[in-house]
Amino acid sequence: MISLVVPIYNEISLLDELVKRCVDALESTGSDFELILVDDGSYDGSLDRMIEWSVKDSRLVIVELSRNFGHQAAYTAGLEQAKGDYVAMMDGDLQDPPELIPEMFLKIKDDNVDVVNAQRTSRKESLKRQWVTRLFHSIFNSTSGLGKMENSGNFSMLNRSALKALLSLEERTRYLPGLRSFIGFKQVSVEYDRDARFAGEAKMNVRRLIRLAADAVFSFSKIPLKFCLYLGIIGICISMGAGIYILLSKALGIAPLGWSSTMTSIFFLGSIQLTFLGVLGEYVFRIYRETQQRPNYFIRKVHQKQ
Ligand code: UDP
Ligand code: MG
Repeated sequence: MISLVVPIYNEISLLDELVKRCVDALESTGSDFELILVDDGSYDGSLDRMIEWSVKDSRLVIVELSRNFGHQAAYTAGLEQAKGDYVAMMDGDLQDPPELIPEMFLKIKDDNVDVVNAQRTSRKESLKRQWVTRLFHSIFNSTSGLGKMENSGNFSMLNRSALKALLSLEERTRYLPGLRSFIGFKQVSVEYDRDARFAGEAKMNVRRLIRLAADAVFSFSKIPLKFCLYLGIIGICISMGAGIYILLSKALGIAPLGWSSTMTSIFFLGSIQLTFLGVLGEYVFRIYRETQQRPNYFIRKVHQKQ
């Protein structure tokens, strides 16, 4: 059986199209399937619409979260519910074409493949967004130590053993594409063109995207900390040099040192310290969140026709 997990947050304008295309694509694989739609606290009637669909078709499973937890948590909720031998995940805005699933299924049935990642060869998104995504991927690739994971996002299919590994990573700071790369196993990719959103507004606004990018970088890399350390060491060297100069000029009786140099160094050191505290804070916050052990999501109800 195949399970397809799709997170939904206020997608009423494309829900019908989404369900139709997903069901068609899954049927064409010739395998049994379940379509798991995770409602991430929608308030535009998406949930009712999904429940209507699920009443007509027992292959639909609607996982209703107790509020909006963000799409990485919604994916996790769906993955934990999935019963299939092969489990796919896909964004619910039809930027990822469900029609790719049969091809992914063919690949993953091979004994030597555990994970199929869908790789975007092109994108129909605003230039700004493409640019920001590219910047993020290059930062993440060069800092995460995971090797290249060029242009693959959430769209992917895993077999049971890879999924079990992925779900055993219980951290609260979840960046699934990174975690998926971390588990290893035999991974292959299929290529596709990323469409524009079928309808509606992007739900990941700039703030949410920045938060996701920060989660990705800080949870996989200690480079920000290292960077602070090195900059700090450079600062120490500079101030030692300056100290020697001050002592020497005092000994030689040269004119008193100026106000401007004092002020600049105070500002310089102050701002460096604040920046470093901020970077430390990012890690401390994430340690704090891990120790709280709060669940990533709560399920209010699972709707499925018996
Ligand atoms: N989404 C979600 N919870 C959120 C934000 C988004 O479940 O808090 C879903 C959304 O409905 C969509 C998917 O995650 O199915 C990707 O969202 P979006 O298309 O807005 O992200 P982008 O394409 O901008 O990365
Ligand atoms: Mg999208």
